[in-house]
Amino acid sequence: MNKKTVKDIDLKGKRVLMRVDFNVPMANGVVTDDKRIRAALPTIQYVLEQGASLIVMSHLGRPKGTGFESEFSLKPASEVLAKLLNKPVAIAQDCIGDEIERMAKSLKPGETLMLENVRFHKAEEKNDPEFAKKLASLGEVYVNDAFGSAHRAHASTEGVAKFLPAVSGFLMQQELEYLSKATINPERPYVAILGGAKISDKIAVIENLLSKCDTLIVGGGMANTFLAAKGYNMAESLVEQTAIETARKNKKKAGGKLLLPVDGVVGSKIDVQAQPKVVDADKIPVGGAMMDIGPKSIEKFSNVLKNAKLVVWNGPLGVFEDPRYSKVTFAIAKLLATSGATTVIGGGDSASAVKKAGVAKQISHVSTGGGASLEFLEGKILPGVAVLLNK
Ligand code: AMP
Repeated sequence: MNKKTVKDIDLKGKRVLMRVDFNVPMANGVVTDDKRIRAALPTIQYVLEQGASLIVMSHLGRPKGTGFESEFSLKPASEVLAKLLNKPVAIAQDCIGDEIERMAKSLKPGETLMLENVRFHKAEEKNDPEFAKKLASLGEVYVNDAFGSAHRAHASTEGVAKFLPAVSGFLMQQELEYLSKATINPERPYVAILGGAKISDKIAVIENLLSKCDTLIVGGGMANTFLAAKGYNMAESLVEQTAIETARKNKKKAGGKLLLPVDGVVGSKIDVQAQPKVVDADKIPVGGAMMDIGPKSIEKFSNVLKNAKLVVWNGPLGVFEDPRYSKVTFAIAKLLATSGATTVIGGGDSASAVKKAGVAKQISHVSTGGGASLEFLEGKILPGVAVLLNK
């Protein structure tokens, strides 16, 4: 995925309009986790150092789209950014309009203006071309560093790029670089691990990864449906009846490429406090539900993982929110952390698992976009990426 980046374009004296993901958690108007703001800092600092002025835009939460709502204001995020940059950051009252245009055009090199939440306008999510044009009129170059929103064709992520030279920021570049390893000329042996609740949410990912990888390991609730397709009685386990046929077809097509658990940690649906038991996957007792995969399965999976050159993982392998069923998810996180392979985590629950296990720094790449990384792994070209200039 060879897209131009901020390094491929002359920024000196330019007004740079940059889409970031400052959709940060807040409590009583205070940012409670500034990770996403910090993640955009390398690109922001680079742009400012090049002698450009900077106009930053983002969405935050789900406002009604009918104007300003203080609960969804980006003002607290702009204050955090100012602190991290150790420079003033002006906050606009809106993201379009004459006054905002005046503010943007009067910026001097090295100065930053943060626009208000682009979702205060319904036109943002509708990708209205007039709205996109007004956003574009604020800058001379467009930089997208919001990978987590790149699967959405909105005005600030896609529409705006039709009116300005559009390049990626460093965070976006890193996401594209690592996720492309999973879909274009992967290093081999390439092992993909998929977990999570349902097959139906990830069918396109299963099919695309099966066509690219050498081994696909399936765990979590998804594995239950594959095991049911094998004819096993899964008792009270989460099984998607409507997806059994799809599971059967994919299993047949995958042949030896697909690895399923051979045992599991089973809880009781009748007595939720009962101690879980380890049983073979074809011997789940009446009333039992497979909530995690078992030790024989970990061993089977570890044997494949230890030779891998590339591992891509999305989705927990058990009900990891409950400590009784989190063992395998954390064991896999630790295994990947010590493996010599390039390791890519596809956002969401698996990203939080590697963080909780304290091993995120030992993973080659932990994606910042759950939905966006899944669509990427499906083989889709994300709209916010498609509009960026090619190298
Ligand atoms: P997803 O959003 O599809 O990645 O699913 C994540 C959810 O799958 C988590 O909340 C897990 O608790 C759930 N999950 C993982 N394994 C199982 C399982 N064996 N049975 C039921 N739910 C599971």
